[in-house]
Amino acid sequence: MATMDLILLHAPSLYDFRKRPGMHGPISDVVPSTPIFEMYPIGFTSISEYLERHGLTVRIVNVAMKMLKDIRFDVEGFLSKLKATAFGLDIHWMAHIQGALALAEILKRFHPKIPVILGGLSATYYHEELLRRYPFVDFVLRGDSTEKALVLLLEALREKRGLQDIPNLTWRDGGSGIRANPLTDVPDHLDDITVDYRHIMKKVVRYVDPTGYQPFMDWYSYPVTAVFTCRGCIHNCKTCGGSARTFRSMANRSKPAFRDPKLLAQDIFNIADHLHAPVMIIGDIFQAGKEYGFTFLQEMKKRRIANHVAFEFFLPPPRPFLERIAESV
Ligand code: SF4
Repeated sequence: MATMDLILLHAPSLYDFRKRPGMHGPISDVVPSTPIFEMYPIGFTSISEYLERHGLTVRIVNVAMKMLKDIRFDVEGFLSKLKATAFGLDIHWMAHIQGALALAEILKRFHPKIPVILGGLSATYYHEELLRRYPFVDFVLRGDSTEKALVLLLEALREKRGLQDIPNLTWRDGGSGIRANPLTDVPDHLDDITVDYRHIMKKVVRYVDPTGYQPFMDWYSYPVTAVFTCRGCIHNCKTCGGSARTFRSMANRSKPAFRDPKLLAQDIFNIADHLHAPVMIIGDIFQAGKEYGFTFLQEMKKRRIANHVAFEFFLPPPRPFLERIAESV
């Protein structure tokens, strides 16, 4: 297997759930995933697309999905054969912290010289603890956006350069100290960061690995897709881990970053060109203001698509806004 720059691996919530059955509780009731949490974060997709656009090679491996689909899938045998400049694991949702750490430990056992990078909002919150307690974790990239920082980190690792200037990076400085570089890679828009399903389809073919890229167990019978309006939120709902206050304290984000509404419409058209799946628009199109929402709807009106389109609202929209939506999709 050729060496690539980054292999992103998604772990099950519990390793190894095939041998240690447990009561998982309602941890996945609001996502289209089983309690094994085989759904990898959509950020894997934007990271892969961004890095490949910047000359790096990336593979996504949904290990949880491989384990779910094949009870005899040999995790250790598979991981032992991987080669990359670095491995990346998501600890975005707390549900799979045990599984992610278990995979990180196995990877380090087979590949002691290949760095293990963690990312996601939960990894961000626990960045120092993760490095202090788990020697098989080498780096945590903090914040809600790590695309640019990952390019810089992988280039620095390849060229054996110092890490003191890599934004958002928490790392061991070689002594006993843990250093948290400033969290300065906080994009103020998402025009350069995209979820492109065409990219994923190409990678499935390149690595001949549909299971490794499958988003969740029932995806082929229930193939829902998603596009993102933003990272961050203007609201502060008390129970939300993605509120304005959370993003401010954990991701150094003072305001949401939005994707240009015309690019957002193009993301949906790109999906419609290849898939008939429903498209979920994540993030209220009116959060950035009426102008943003209406510009998006105007674009959607230019081209009728057969896909169902689902909207979410953070506040009940006025009736005329709903009528504009009804005219547009
Ligand atoms: S509107 Fe949604 S994303 Fe924003 S704080 Fe409330 S629950 Fe969280």
